[in-house]
Amino acid sequence: MSIRFDGKVALITGAGAGLGRAHALAFAARGAKVVINDFGGSRDGTGSSTTAAQAVVDEIRKAGGTAIANGANVADPAQVQAMIEQTMAEFGRIDILVNNAGILRDKSFAKLQAEDFKLVLDVHLNGSINCSKAVWDIMRAQQYGRILMTTSAAGMYGNFGQANYGAAKMALIGLMNVLSVEGRKNDIKVNTIAPVAATRMTEDVMSPEALQRIQPERVTPGVLYLCSEQAPTKVILGAGGGTFSTATIMETAPVHLTDAELTPEGVAARFPQIADWSTARAYAEVLEQVQVFLAPAA
Ligand code: NAD
Repeated sequence: MSIRFDGKVALITGAGAGLGRAHALAFAARGAKVVINDFGGSRDGTGSSTTAAQAVVDEIRKAGGTAIANGANVADPAQVQAMIEQTMAEFGRIDILVNNAGILRDKSFAKLQAEDFKLVLDVHLNGSINCSKAVWDIMRAQQYGRILMTTSAAGMYGNFGQANYGAAKMALIGLMNVLSVEGRKNDIKVNTIAPVAATRMTEDVMSPEALQRIQPERVTPGVLYLCSEQAPTKVILGAGGGTFSTATIMETAPVHLTDAELTPEGVAARFPQIADWSTARAYAEVLEQVQVFLAPAA
C-alpha cells in the first residue's frame, strides 16, 4: 500500500528552506509536480528573494522531478492569485496545498507592538486563508483536494513571548475545523501538522544534540500521509524526530445545575466535577456540542 503522488500537483508555501523544503523534496520524490513557493525573507519577515525557492526547484529537477518556483508573499492575496494562475497554466490542476510559510516576531506581550501582531497574523493566518481560498473552487470542481495547516504547540499549549504567533497558530485549527466540514462533500480533506524540527526558527532555542535528532525530514512522512488519497480529515498530528501523536479539543461531560445552584458559588462548588477530565469527549461538529446545552437536565 505505497503512497504515491503521480499525476498530482502539490503547492507548498515557504518551501525554500526548513520544513517546507523537506516536504517539497519528498512530494517530488514520490511523483508529485511541485510548486515551490517562498518569499525568501529573513526569520522576522523582512527582505525577499527568489533564490531559495529556485535552489529547491533545481534540486528537484536534478533528481528527475518536476517543479516550478514562485516568490509570492502569501500575505498578499493578489500575489497568491497570480501564483495559482501560474500553477494552473503550468500544470492544469492543484491537488495538494501545504500551508507552511511562517515568520517569528517573538517578544513578551508587554513589548509586542501592533505591527508585530499584524505581520505574524498576516503571514500565518491570512497567508493560509489566502492560499486555501484561492485553491478552494479548483478543488471543489475537481472533487478532490488535500489542504494542510501548520500549527504549533506554542499556540496549542502556550509559550512565553509568542502571543502573536500562538494566536495565529491556534486560529489555523479553527480554520481547519470549518474547512474540513465544508470540504467533506467534495473529497477535500483538511488537516494540521504540529511540527518540532531543527530549522532557523529553532536553531537558537535547542542544543546541537537535540537539533540533530529533529531534522525536518523526520516530520515529512506525517505530512505526506495527511495529504495522501487515504488521508483522514480534521486531524492535528504532532510530529518531531520520527515521533507522532494526535491532538484534539475535548470537553468534559455536561453538568446541569439546578436553579438553586445557579450562582457563582454554585459553579465554584461544582467546578471539580465540571472540570473532571476523566469524562471528556470530542465533538464531530458544533451542533453536537450545542445540543448538550439545549438538552433539559436529566
Ligand atoms: P523556516 O524559517 O526555515 O521556513 C519558513 C519559510 O517560510 C522560509 O523559507 C521563509 O522564507 C518562508 N516565508 C516566510 N514568510 C513568507 C511569506 N510571507 N510568503 C511566502 N513564504 C514565506 O522555518 P520552519 O521551522 O521550517 O517553519 C515552517 C513552518 O513550521 C512555519 O509555519 C512554522 O511556524 C512552523 N513550525 C515550526 C516549528 C519548528 O520546530 N521548526 C514548530 C512549530 C511550527
